[in-house]
Amino acid sequence: MGSNLDEPERQVSAAMDQLDAGAHCQVAKCSSLYRSAPMGDQQQPDFINAVCSIHIQLSPRAVLDHLFNIERDHQRIRYVDRPGGPRSLDLDLLLYGDSQIDEPGLTVPHPRMHLRRFVLLPLSEIAPKLYIPGHGLVCELLNQDQIKRQRVSQLVTQA
Ligand code: ADP
Ligand code: MG
Repeated sequence: MGSNLDEPERQVSAAMDQLDAGAHCQVAKCSSLYRSAPMGDQQQPDFINAVCSIHIQLSPRAVLDHLFNIERDHQRIRYVDRPGGPRSLDLDLLLYGDSQIDEPGLTVPHPRMHLRRFVLLPLSEIAPKLYIPGHGLVCELLNQDQIKRQRVSQLVTQA
């Protein structure tokens, strides 16, 4: 999950609740929230990111549709001329068990997840021994120099 518009922390926390409220879907674990520097387009605010693991009785395609519906509830607008630009809410399907899927509009594991510290760090919090099919262990991927250079920090929340 990621957001850098319209109270990002609220957007991400609300998305976790919405996921859990969906039919056929239970949230099993949620990471803390993380603040991360934008990648690519630097002319935008920092992002708030988190990951969740869910139990879901839907096909991968139906999961993606479900995620898009939640994005739409958050007034997500896609700017065709600004891929990777600011967004109220981005929900990506990172993994679906150990499936590998390559279809139009749906690639699993998510094709860039192994390159992004803002994905790997929260993932390591909820699943430190996770293996990303085709790429390796989350904890090993996090040890690479090009990943370590990316600015990502866990948000400290008041109790
Ligand atoms: P971003 O790559 O920044 O998340 P979008 O959310 O606009 O950008 O998604 C772009 C496209 O990526 C969507 O049309 C979607 O079909 C496609 N896509 C392919 N695989 C995935 C995945 N695993 N999770 C989410 N979107 C995916
Ligand atoms: Mg997306």
